[in-house]
Amino acid sequence: MNLKPTVIVIEDEKSICSFIETTLTAHQYKVLAAATGQEGLSLITSGFPDLILLDLGLPDIDGLDIIRQVRGWSVIPIIVISARTQENEKVLALDSGADDYITKPFGTSELLARIRTALRHHHLNGGGALTRPEPVYSFDGLNIDFSKRLVTLNDEEIHLTQIEYKLVSLLAKNAGRVLTYDYIINHIWGPYADNNNNQILRVNMAHIRRKLEANPAEPHYIFTEIGVGYRMRESQV
Ligand code: CA
Repeated sequence: MNLKPTVIVIEDEKSICSFIETTLTAHQYKVLAAATGQEGLSLITSGFPDLILLDLGLPDIDGLDIIRQVRGWSVIPIIVISARTQENEKVLALDSGADDYITKPFGTSELLARIRTALRHHHLNGGGALTRPEPVYSFDGLNIDFSKRLVTLNDEEIHLTQIEYKLVSLLAKNAGRVLTYDYIINHIWGPYADNNNNQILRVNMAHIRRKLEANPAEPHYIFTEIGVGYRMRESQV
């Protein structure tokens, strides 16, 4: 019934490219590969992809420019393939319109999970940019009912302040994706937020973790992506 989703991989490192091709082909994706930005851009316009996997360090075009160009006319999900040390680049990519990133080296299950999440959000949103919430979030004892604004952990209600609830529900509605600090701050405090809000965000996240996590130093539900933002576990409903 379903057509295979088409994924375009733009990556000049042959070993990574063929790893992705093998993995995705084995999991019922159609893969089109390009080793340069120019080749990638023409594949994007001719290949009708459902998702793009994009290395930022390409021989000809800066990956960030590719994101900006594609975002000029398309909301297709873009996942950036990034080197471990380049936090700033990840933030720039996300703020330029990438949906997520995956850090080299990565394994099969991580790659597939990122793709699943990006495709799911894209379809939920009808291809648009705004999040249409699912009615509930559920992962390993943590449940959120968005219509009732009710958060329970192992069937016990968790009392959150208004800001804490806004933060948790924003992350839960985007579960599986990383949200940058700037994105979260703009979303919660609006466009006039300033540097103080970074501190307020950190304090609120610490409070949330004390309420939700058995061990706040080793979070189980909401992860810190160092230098980038936060990512909440993908919901199991
Ligand atoms: Ca590269």
